[in-house]
Amino acid sequence: MQTLGHWIDGAEVAGEGDTLKNINPATGECINRIPAGDTEAVGHAVAAAQTAFESWRLVPVAERAAHLHAVADAVERDAEAFAAAECADTGKPIALASSVDIPRAVANLRWFADAAVEFCAREEVWDTTAARSTVDYRPAGPVAAISPWNLPLYLLSWKIAPALAMGCTVVAKPSEITPTTASMLAHCSAAAGLPPGVLNILHGLGDRSGAPLVSHRDIKAVTFTGGTATGRRVAESCAGAFKKVALEMGGKNPCVIFADADPEAALDVAAAAAFSNQGQICLCTERLIVETSIKDDVIAGLVARANALRIGDPTASTTQFGSLTSHAHRDKVAAAVDQARNDGATVHCGGEVPTNTAPGGAFYAPTVLSGLGSGSVCNQTEIFGPVTSIIPFETEAQAIHLANDTDYGLCATVCSGDRARAQRVAKGIDAGTVWINCWLVRDFRVPFGGMKDSGLGREGGETALRFFTEPVTVCATTGSQQGAAGAVPSEST
Ligand code: NDP
Repeated sequence: MQTLGHWIDGAEVAGEGDTLKNINPATGECINRIPAGDTEAVGHAVAAAQTAFESWRLVPVAERAAHLHAVADAVERDAEAFAAAECADTGKPIALASSVDIPRAVANLRWFADAAVEFCAREEVWDTTAARSTVDYRPAGPVAAISPWNLPLYLLSWKIAPALAMGCTVVAKPSEITPTTASMLAHCSAAAGLPPGVLNILHGLGDRSGAPLVSHRDIKAVTFTGGTATGRRVAESCAGAFKKVALEMGGKNPCVIFADADPEAALDVAAAAAFSNQGQICLCTERLIVETSIKDDVIAGLVARANALRIGDPTASTTQFGSLTSHAHRDKVAAAVDQARNDGATVHCGGEVPTNTAPGGAFYAPTVLSGLGSGSVCNQTEIFGPVTSIIPFETEAQAIHLANDTDYGLCATVCSGDRARAQRVAKGIDAGTVWINCWLVRDFRVPFGGMKDSGLGREGGETALRFFTEPVTVCATTGSQQGAAGAVPSEST
């Protein structure tokens, strides 16, 4: 066991004061300790990012991109160690960490590096008969990146890559529950030659590291992924200083299955959407809105898929479903299912700690519920675990109404054999992403985010690149300006 320090100005720095345990949730063992966070460390990290910004912003974009590729190379070389660390921190199956989390983090670094080069090569020029306007996208400054525990390196890299590529410097705060791969990334970045201060990592608790970081006056923009309640606090903190903020928050995502859908394919989609990463992806489905005539078949098919999952030791290469990421979170998921039971839900499978899992682990079985109305606590509150609730519908209009019947609007899936209907329903659903006959197919180029309580702004693609900039328009007349002094010039095009 070691104590991970913050990463500030290109070096590991021990935090002041008390430390926190970093627990392997599949065994209950303490694997590391981290600083609990203090405002002095926040001040040092932001000062380092501020100093580094003055030179990093002047580094040509192609060179910044080369730095990101070098960091990606270093992560790729160490991919096995990264996957093992992610597995130990989160309890997710090693197969998932190796095939999704780490490769995607590498891909995030590479894609945004190349996209920034392309973006910056484009000249934005607007001509009128009287003037030429050019738009210069300047890096916003030192920015804060706050990320959650479910996809630690994946989401951290998703935030820092566009920021660094566009010339911002970053102070990142990973979740205190899953700190390890952020520290490893910091070491890789130094080994890859990223200049000191360009990427800084602050460990610690949300209120001791995250809150003072977000409110620091030298932080010019904040990108946050986490729960809606925390997102609201972050937004409030940014509002006072008119700081840019992008919020990716919770979801209560529906999967709508029509009777005309390919039954096996729809069930595969629904099971993946409900149980991937133990249901701990903001994009997971928690409400399965099913045409009444196929409800029993869907329940049977989903239960069969849940029962077929190989549950257990996340380090075993054949495991498909590991531990939840903390004991406290497992208890929250269990309490939500208990409440659903008390409210009259039928539990078709799961609803308990699975047998044959390590006693010290935070395991919870994939769970299928039915029998609750759309307005029930279970169907309104994000559980963020492997729990899905079946809600029947009769008509297309009712399906759309039910899909929209929560405070969230992150994503949705529609399964139907009728393409026109699927498109129609997709248009009726208020969510940032709607998948048709698939789930979690992610194209780097498209905007990603949520509506309502699920988010503010979008990340992904060019939207993310723009977020980390301040557009500055320089407008030069092509002749001399006409008109009397003080007159408002016409806006000719
Ligand atoms: P939290 O909201 O608890 O925490 C998210 C991050 O914010 C953590 O790093 C946390 O630190 C930090 N934090 C906490 N308080 C503050 C504060 N006052 N100021 C600044 N930062 C703070 O979310 P979880 O980590 O529990 O993650 C699960 C949630 O994330 C779910 O609701 C899920 O839906 C959402 N999520 C959304 C995604 C999306 O793209 N929309 C993707 C993935 C998850 P600490 O952990 O130390 O408290």
